[in-house]
Amino acid sequence: MPSMNKRSRRTKPKPTKRKANHNTSVYHSMDWRKHSKQYRLDNPQCVGCGAKARCVDHIIPVRIGGSFWDIRNHQSLCNGCHAKKSSDESRDIYINSVKNIDQELIPHRGASWKCN
Ligand SMILES: [Zn+2]
Repeated sequence: MPSMNKRSRRTKPKPTKRKANHNTSVYHSMDWRKHSKQYRLDNPQCVGCGAKARCVDHIIPVRIGGSFWDIRNHQSLCNGCHAKKSSDESRDIYINSVKNIDQELIPHRGASWKCN
């Protein structure tokens, strides 16, 4: 008589209930990672403060209509500037500044979200 499989009694870890949307999945895609790496090789300095760039940011956030893949909507940022910009975005400060320049694709760079 086969013994009971004890493994089946183990409690499986609950899957994380992350909101899976288009943006998060694309950000983790190989295509984006490759693009981000290459973009930072071509544009190694943070446009906010000149430090070494750690991420590629969407100048106009994708969630408000900015193009995800249009390179004109990309900029290299260090972690500090990206955190500051993201914080401003969440409080609509940056978004309002984008709207104030007639929906141009590329706002002036080096805005108020510099990290230092
Ligand atoms: Zn910076």
